[in-house]
Amino acid sequence: MARLLFISGLIFFGWLAYRFLKNTWAQRLREVEQAEQNAQQAHQANPSRVQQIKACTYCKTHIPEDEGIYRDGKFFCSYQHLDRYLEHQDN
Ligand SMILES: [Zn+2]
Repeated sequence: MARLLFISGLIFFGWLAYRFLKNTWAQRLREVEQAEQNAQQAHQANPSRVQQIKACTYCKTHIPEDEGIYRDGKFFCSYQHLDRYLEHQDN
């Protein structure tokens, strides 16, 4: 009889543990899904890669890096300012 009670108790606690773990896993799974959804939404809100903003060496105007020109490690907003900068340097 005591043995039967012991086994019943074991099964009962096993079932409790199973239920607890199942709930925990389900909750974790929901959290992961939520995080993935948030990441996806953030990606959709800002699909383009992070663009670097650089200051023109001549006029100090800040423009996106891929719209300007690099010359000798210096950044310029236009060829006009590149030429003016070079002229200014020569004098
Ligand atoms: Zn400029």
